[in-house]
Amino acid sequence: MNMPNIRAIRRIYAIFFFGLFLWLLWILDPQHMKGYETGLILELSPLTAIAGFFTSGTVYLGLAWALPIIFLTLFFGRFFCSWICPLGILNQFSSWLFNRRRPVDQYKNNAYRPIFRLKYYILAGLLILSAFGALQIGLLDPIALLTRSFTVSLYPAINQWGVGPYLNQPIFLGGALISALLIVLILANRFITRYWCRVLCPLGALLGVMSLRAPFRIRRDVDKCTDCNKCLANCQGGCDPHAEHRVSECHACMNCIEDCPEGALHYGLPESRTSAAKPFDINRRRLGEVAVASVVFYPMLKSAVSASTKPQHQTIRPPGSLPEEEFNARCIKCAACMRVCPTNVLQPALLGAGFEGLWTPILVNKIGWCEHHCVLCGQACPTGAIQRISVQEKVGEKPFEKPVKLGTAFFDHGRCLPWSMHTECVVCEEVCPTTPKAIWYKRVELLKRDGSVVKLKQPYMAPDLCIGCGICENKCPVEDYAAVRITSVGETRSKANQMLLKGKS
Ligand code: SF4
Ligand code: SF4
Repeated sequence: MNMPNIRAIRRIYAIFFFGLFLWLLWILDPQHMKGYETGLILELSPLTAIAGFFTSGTVYLGLAWALPIIFLTLFFGRFFCSWICPLGILNQFSSWLFNRRRPVDQYKNNAYRPIFRLKYYILAGLLILSAFGALQIGLLDPIALLTRSFTVSLYPAINQWGVGPYLNQPIFLGGALISALLIVLILANRFITRYWCRVLCPLGALLGVMSLRAPFRIRRDVDKCTDCNKCLANCQGGCDPHAEHRVSECHACMNCIEDCPEGALHYGLPESRTSAAKPFDINRRRLGEVAVASVVFYPMLKSAVSASTKPQHQTIRPPGSLPEEEFNARCIKCAACMRVCPTNVLQPALLGAGFEGLWTPILVNKIGWCEHHCVLCGQACPTGAIQRISVQEKVGEKPFEKPVKLGTAFFDHGRCLPWSMHTECVVCEEVCPTTPKAIWYKRVELLKRDGSVVKLKQPYMAPDLCIGCGICENKCPVEDYAAVRITSVGETRSKANQMLLKGKS
């Protein structure tokens, strides 16, 4: 198949998909997201769909978008990596920027290296963990990784300059670490072109395995080839188009076809005198070692504080979240929910939710609160870890009997102004959004140290009315550690994490 200007066509596709990724991330906010399929790029990842199926036994409807990618890869190879994947495109651009070497260096840089096998072992480890129920692919799925990194770094940086959509300056706990990892990955392109894609990417590895029997692939006419190696100059995959082609490494960038001065390369079905492909290069012994390591690592992952142990007081999940085990089996740590939250309350968890909950969303009420009539995080979540609920369901309007409860607020009497400092304060009662209010007062007369009497209102909490939205904690005037704080107990999504259970002594 002759393909004039295929490089230019691929670049147009790459710019389109990278622009689409940025645009969908940009409109992922309360003002713009209505009606758009904002999770589209996240939903394209076959790795998310397959690993999520392993952990939860279901494929979330949105992830059906991955099916066309799988189907096309089986026939046309690993084209996703250089035509669609936003992290792949970013890596390719930065590699080009860093490595404008002499051609002879490019040939060396673009030759296959045994370290490229590492991504297959990473894929195997992540899939084995998924089969055991621990979904950790979100740490390394390239689309989730880029969405998370841009959300916690680029988005606050843009807001810093006053052009952000609605929050003055969003902050994300531990965002510096997430941003630093992305910077390291980009800088690694200085040493090996597309370092992430060639060496580490588990999605690339999965697509590589799927493409092994693809009928459409790069083929070399051995009669025409003069072994000049010019096809290596811009090869994105490092897949040896000049020799026995390594199909699972090829990104179908087509650069080699245009770089070949003899017209010896084509993309398509085999013709007479086309060279053989290199067999899949993977060390079975290493694969076995990875399997054993994953099996050993799994209980360690679970032995930390996690969903399978006691509920954690600080693990307060967004409204509509699945029970903790199922939540961790679905959440890919993409941070789309954090991007869309209008109060910035959703933050990437560190180790408080267990290692398996690293970078999953939790509510940190010192930073924000859950807005009473907002259900945006469920609409943004691409995997159903946070289910789509209506405002009526959230606030408990008919036909729903009860509101969705995220946790319960508790007073710390030693810090509360009316309780311990004889000072009038009604802030928490004023901001409480429920009807009737969950915070109520008793009028009391208190004897002060100097013998005088002060009349004031002391606040109480009605736990059955509190929805755990956290606005009282956020607005409490005791700044550093609020006098009213939310814990996860009483959350609707958990039968176990309750204060009083019928039939339980
Ligand atoms: S429902 Fe609450 S946690 Fe979710 S986006 Fe809205 S304010 Fe944030
Ligand atoms: S819960 Fe948040 S971080 Fe997890 S998959 Fe859904 S949107 Fe992404």
